[in-house]
Amino acid sequence: MTSSEIRQHFLDFFQSKNHLIVQSAPLVAKNDPTLMFNNSGMAQFKDFFLGNGTPPAKRVADTQKCLRVSGKHNDLEDVGFDTYHHTMFEMLGNWSFGDYFKKEAITWAWELLTEVYKLPKDRLYVSVFEGDTKDNVSFDQEAWDLWKPIVGEDRIILGNKKDNFWEMGDTGPCGPCSEIHVDLRPQSEVELKPGKQLVNADHPQVVEIWNLVFMQFNRKADGSLDPLPARHVDTGMGFERLCMAIQSKLSNYDTDVFTHTIKVIEELSGISYKGSQRDYPDVAMRVIADHIRAVSFAIADGLVPSNARAGYVIRRILRRAVRYGYSYLGFTEPFMTKLVPTLAMQFADVFPELNAQRDFVATVIREEEASFLRTLENGLKLLDKITSDLAQSGGKEIDGETVFELNDTFGFPSDLTALIAREKGLSIDEAGFQKALQQQKERSRKDATSATGDWTELTDIDGVEFVGYDQTEAEARIAKYRKVQNKQGTQYQIVLDRTPFYAESGGQIGDTGSLELRVGDETVLIRIADTKKENDLIIHISNDKNLEEILDNHTAVFAKIDTNRRVAIEDNHSATHLLHAALREVLGKHVGQKGSYVGPDALRFDFSHFAKVTDDELAKVERIVNEKIRENIQLNERRNVPIDEARSLGAMALFGEKYGDFVRVITFDPNYSVELCGGTHVPATGQIGLFKFTSEGSVSTGIRRIEAVTAEKALALLNEQQATLDQLKELLKAPKDVLKAVQNLMDERHQLQKKIEVLEAEKLQKVKADLLTKVYSANGHFVIVERIEVPSADALKQLAYDLKAKLDNLALVLGSDINGKPQLAVMLPDDLIKTKNLHAGTLVKELAKEIRGGGGGQPFFATAGGTDATGLDRALAKGRELLQ
Ligand code: ATP
Ligand code: MG
Repeated sequence: MTSSEIRQHFLDFFQSKNHLIVQSAPLVAKNDPTLMFNNSGMAQFKDFFLGNGTPPAKRVADTQKCLRVSGKHNDLEDVGFDTYHHTMFEMLGNWSFGDYFKKEAITWAWELLTEVYKLPKDRLYVSVFEGDTKDNVSFDQEAWDLWKPIVGEDRIILGNKKDNFWEMGDTGPCGPCSEIHVDLRPQSEVELKPGKQLVNADHPQVVEIWNLVFMQFNRKADGSLDPLPARHVDTGMGFERLCMAIQSKLSNYDTDVFTHTIKVIEELSGISYKGSQRDYPDVAMRVIADHIRAVSFAIADGLVPSNARAGYVIRRILRRAVRYGYSYLGFTEPFMTKLVPTLAMQFADVFPELNAQRDFVATVIREEEASFLRTLENGLKLLDKITSDLAQSGGKEIDGETVFELNDTFGFPSDLTALIAREKGLSIDEAGFQKALQQQKERSRKDATSATGDWTELTDIDGVEFVGYDQTEAEARIAKYRKVQNKQGTQYQIVLDRTPFYAESGGQIGDTGSLELRVGDETVLIRIADTKKENDLIIHISNDKNLEEILDNHTAVFAKIDTNRRVAIEDNHSATHLLHAALREVLGKHVGQKGSYVGPDALRFDFSHFAKVTDDELAKVERIVNEKIRENIQLNERRNVPIDEARSLGAMALFGEKYGDFVRVITFDPNYSVELCGGTHVPATGQIGLFKFTSEGSVSTGIRRIEAVTAEKALALLNEQQATLDQLKELLKAPKDVLKAVQNLMDERHQLQKKIEVLEAEKLQKVKADLLTKVYSANGHFVIVERIEVPSADALKQLAYDLKAKLDNLALVLGSDINGKPQLAVMLPDDLIKTKNLHAGTLVKELAKEIRGGGGGQPFFATAGGTDATGLDRALAKGRELLQ
């Protein structure tokens, strides 16, 4: 069975059990402060478990792209060394939202594995939660009773809280789980040791493939558990591991999920993959075959390697792969980029986003690789220097801080540094390295700490209604609130049943405004400083102090946004749409949005494009956008358009954005700009008034950034420029043609400069002639020791050289006060250097003491500068004496 068939059978099986098949959410998690990447199938359904939204169906199944490289689940360091943990993997899952529970989940899992996939029953083991007295949860008797007739008692393993109790986070839905493990060892080995003893023992061929989670509790902030009103099923099966089991392989990398990519790596490196557990070339190939998936799909989902947050995680994954390729497969040129086409083809049907952006992804990876390879070379050189310095000083160990720095800056893991060190007979301070690593972790943990309190529920609601497309104010009720302690201090987060406040998303920043409450006879205002989304909740954030008293006793509020600010935001948001369309018209259809910021002050738009946008192109784009503004095109806003219909309208969707089955479509002229968008917009483009670019530049490889202002800000910008021009005219005494006047000034300056140069040269000639009259001889040398006037240190040097050319055998000391800075020059003839062992550098240093300065140079010529011009004559007198 091929991997595609295996995936399809899973989806078909659950479809036949009345499940709705849905799309994978993007790799990068959106609107979830607790999660950077989707790391399990359930992440996109969190809200349904929390009761904050209604699922599209009670039974759902899919394959979800997951990434486990940060936070609670981090498998990065295992990847390559073992054969069944990946950074990115697919998690096949089926869900019940308050519908079926343990019985169906267990029977169907068994049916699928043994009847559809025909896995041998005697190679499967299951685990059941044994209970936990501290947590006050009992043994999962229900699951035990269901499994017993299916697998038999001796194939059931009892698991503790760590392995068999699943929690979404510190708080939230949780419950016991049952895992299914498979034993893939050869029969001969099975006979020697029963598989049951190897379950959960990190054996590469006795692995967990499926986890069935039964959510029945809610964990509160104080640690206690409440039963959930509706019970849910959440299952996750590792697709690559399943393929290994069905295709009877001993490693995920031997399945057709990876063999295509490994084949290309073999061709590129000329080394063949032997599948050994510990040989570094094999480890390297696994690392590369794994990481290219994580990196490519993350970029296809809108992420760019960078130095911050999620972008940094991707950068580190890519670097890890490049470094392994460099060290163990001899790749010194970008190679990861060459794997992208194979991967894109392989996944074109399941995850078309990669194939659709193949060239873009390959280019971003190529540039990132090239720049890291340069860093790597520099790192190796540095390491070379460190090791040879150590060898010279007789040291035997590279200290922990250095190992850490190599790791942090150059992506050298400590084992590579250790390896290189060992080749040179040195070792590394592993403990010191671990300490530095720990300190860094501490630092980032401290940065991230925040304490989130439990929600205080005030009114029961089913979901939040956003009324902000039509209203700027609304009567509402407070549904719940909580207190959050973070770096900024204490905040109150408030959820309303309905609200006109737009929560930050799609680049548009959150609304500010106020909530008005009647307290007795008074009206109390709660200031809202920002509005954010958390999954499907709209959270109003207030920095006001001590709100409990008010919030606990009042639920009716009048919610009002700051309308002027919102209008300015809308100007910028609609302008962004006009800009996007104009860019595609002028630069080409490859232009895709890669990020944006829409605020009241300005807009920023990042897009894929491989060259600088020329001034000409910018001018064209700006002209088109302003034309569209003057056309005063009416907004056409359509809500709840079926996604397929929206696409057929040619609506531009963003990769990496999660769209539901129904979307909102924003059109400014169906032939010009049609976009899927949840933001707020102007009623007609004329309101934008004016659009002006403020900058164009590069954010990273293949991505350009444009910044612009609209409406009043655009006018202010023009006014400011006009004012500068007016001041300039005034300075120039109001010429008819300012440009010409400035040009004249510059020409004049140029001519004056030339004249000065001629005059200075003449003057120097005179000084030279003068000096030649002052030559005297001592001990068979010509000697000149004089104080002169020259315009610069360069002129002083020139003069010394000119005199040497004229007079052989010249010993010279010149001093000059150049604009208050004393300068000395010393020139010695060869024979003084040879026979008397003199050095101009030593001499000038000695003389420079008199002018409180220092200097140096070659044996025959040296200069010095000082700070005390009154010492010049003393220095010269000393020179005269020394040259006697
Ligand atoms: P393990 O103990 O093997 O790391 P887990 O307990 O972390 O697994 P779950 O969080 O229960 O796994 O995820 C559900 C399923 O996803 C697992 O049964 C496994 O098949 C698969 N899985 C988990 N992590 C990975 C990974 N890093 N790479 C590939 N598959 C994975
Ligand atoms: Mg794990």
